[in-house]
Amino acid sequence: MDRISWTDYFMAQSLVISTRSTCDRLMVGAVIVRNNRIIATGYNGSVSGLTHCIDHGCFVVDGHCIRTIHAEVNAVIQCAKMGISTDGAEIYITHFPCYNCSKVIIQAGIKKVHYLYDYHNDPNAIDLFNECDIQVSKHELSPHLFEQIKQLHLTNIDQQ
Ligand SMILES: [Zn+2]
Ligand SMILES: [Zn+2]
Repeated sequence: MDRISWTDYFMAQSLVISTRSTCDRLMVGAVIVRNNRIIATGYNGSVSGLTHCIDHGCFVVDGHCIRTIHAEVNAVIQCAKMGISTDGAEIYITHFPCYNCSKVIIQAGIKKVHYLYDYHNDPNAIDLFNECDIQVSKHELSPHLFEQIKQLHLTNIDQQ
């Protein structure tokens, strides 16, 4: 079996992490990476210990659910909490970031944004990334990746 690329490796993890999201309007996952090492992950969810959208419905104001902290911000906060530098890092996100998250990403010193799915792709966020010289690239996961993982899993089970 071929080893998967670094991009697939981190991008696939952002997708797995998104499955922990507690707001089913959009399930987002983020992975912050420095020197090919994961330093933090995040998904969109409520403040720890408080009500989840998936249990009690969304908290919608002006057409947006404002209950959750976005995945990208949660990942940056995790670094702040644990005392880990995000300067010069890269971020892998399932969806193109919103304007607020784009500001947080840039201000945290993150230099590259990799994402999987287009999501509104806010033109103001695109301008901001350009102005601040942040590389943004969209990736596609290798189509056989999850089949490979499933096969590996089934083989591991058989060998038990
Ligand atoms: Zn919600
Ligand atoms: Zn956001």
